[in-house]
Amino acid sequence: MNIHEYQAKQLLKGYGAPVAEGVAILKVEEAEAAAKSLPGPLYVVKSQIHAGGRGKGKFKELGPDAKGGVRLAKSIDEVVAHAKDMLGNTLVTAQTGDAGKQVNRLYIEDGADISRELYCSLLVDRSVGRVAFVVSTEGGMDIEAVAHDTPEKIHTIAIDPEAGVTDADVVAISKALELDGAASDDAKALFPALYKAFVEKDMALLEVNPLIVMTDGHLRVLDAKMSFDGNALFRHDDVKALRDETEEDAKEIEASKWDLAYVALDGNIGCMVNGAGLAMATMDIIKLYGKEPANFCDVGGGASKEKVAAAFKIITADPKVEGILVNIFGGIMKCDVIAEGVVAAVKEVGLQVPLVVRLEGTNVEQGKKILNESGLAITAADDLDDAAQKIVAAVA
Ligand code: GDP
Ligand code: MG
Repeated sequence: MNIHEYQAKQLLKGYGAPVAEGVAILKVEEAEAAAKSLPGPLYVVKSQIHAGGRGKGKFKELGPDAKGGVRLAKSIDEVVAHAKDMLGNTLVTAQTGDAGKQVNRLYIEDGADISRELYCSLLVDRSVGRVAFVVSTEGGMDIEAVAHDTPEKIHTIAIDPEAGVTDADVVAISKALELDGAASDDAKALFPALYKAFVEKDMALLEVNPLIVMTDGHLRVLDAKMSFDGNALFRHDDVKALRDETEEDAKEIEASKWDLAYVALDGNIGCMVNGAGLAMATMDIIKLYGKEPANFCDVGGGASKEKVAAAFKIITADPKVEGILVNIFGGIMKCDVIAEGVVAAVKEVGLQVPLVVRLEGTNVEQGKKILNESGLAITAADDLDDAAQKIVAAVA
């Protein structure tokens, strides 16, 4: 689960990290009061969407010459003008895809005088099984290019979970970031605080880009991107409360209500499967026969007819889906329950695209009988290979 920049900064502030004063707003009318509550004379107006690259982003409605989704303002009037420009419009960035994201929220922040822009993130480094700091002196809006062209400028410092962030770790990170003076003093508190927040809140990613050295020599968290491990959300009600469903894929929200594992992808064959391994195999074989999956929806073991029907509806609701492959190996899950769920869903929402069903395992004969007697245009498949070829042929 992701949260907005202003929420991430609020959270980090609770851990003592240096962040600017700021006010989140939803309406243009709130911009003036928000700016007046800040010290000035420099302000920043920041689009709050769950995607990065906002600074270099473009608003669809404003044309290519207009400024991006993060703007500096030198007066309160300018803050208001930017707010009018940005709120309600669609920001397209390198991370949003062509459709862009509507900006429904702005963060008006006290502006900083920047001396250097650094990169600092924390993530779970699976190669060493530890949380690691990934840092670079080359922070800011071109970090992707730095990682690609000059990977030697990116340093990884893994943290021993028993010891936490030691003095030696702080020295190593500070050295990699070439910190001195006040900044290196700030670092002694900041890096342990970021690590503490990451671990305590079960984050999957914490990215501060840029972390800045200000002209007064101090550090400040200028941007913050935070993702949380969905499997640990049950123990963080405070984090769950920060969820902004308008930023998420509506189908994924519906799926999570039914406890279905649904992942939207870019192709055009919808996949209903049971079990993660079978999902991977199903997607692999679709690709093998030359097509791409539009999604996969894992109904898991022991799903009810209603849950199967919900899964089917979520898959068919995606306009990208030109064909559906249901691939079930009934172990705990029974084939007749799957068949009943599919038939019920098709009867309710109709079937506009080809549907190939491969069932195997517990109650397979009953399942096939239900499908055959349903009178619906369902193509039965004998095995996975047959199923993949049939659905690929059907959408070709
Ligand atoms: P992103 O483009 O979505 O990553 O948004 P950021 O929050 O990282 O802002 C983009 C860029 O705007 C930063 O890299 C800075 O160069 C600039 N910026 C953001 N806040 C300030 C500020 O307070 N003062 C100044 N001078 N520049 C800022
Ligand atoms: Mg940034």
